[in-house]
Amino acid sequence: MYDNNNIFAKIIRKEIPCDKIFEDDQVLFFNDINPKAKIHILAMPKTEVISFSDFINKSTPEEVDYFFKKIVEIVQKFNLDKTGYRLITNDGNDANQEVAHFHVHILGGENLSGLR
Ligand code: 5GP
Repeated sequence: MYDNNNIFAKIIRKEIPCDKIFEDDQVLFFNDINPKAKIHILAMPKTEVISFSDFINKSTPEEVDYFFKKIVEIVQKFNLDKTGYRLITNDGNDANQEVAHFHVHILGGENLSGLR
């Protein structure tokens, strides 16, 4: 069950600040507090979904489409489509998912072979 006390839920409710990249009524993008690359953005829908599978199962096709197209827009805004980038989403225990609100890591801005 979704725990609305997770740190990203608090950031979405503006109880905790973030270094915001983009926000609208459906999605929020902000910089990771502990960046693993020069560009490390976290992308998330604002709906109460725990993980990738939870997001896909509980969202409409329009919501899924909107979220992933917004990732592409942000990727292009940072010119990562030209230099290359990596998307990661950790789902569940074996993936060591830290925060139980679905999010996608956008990593780039440098070669990622030596990912910090
Ligand atoms: P996960 O392991 O859940 O995929 O990744 C969680 C990510 O959230 C980590 O990369 C971690 O650095 C980041 N993070 C955790 N707490 C905060 C926070 O309070 N603010 C920001 N901006 N990032 C956070």
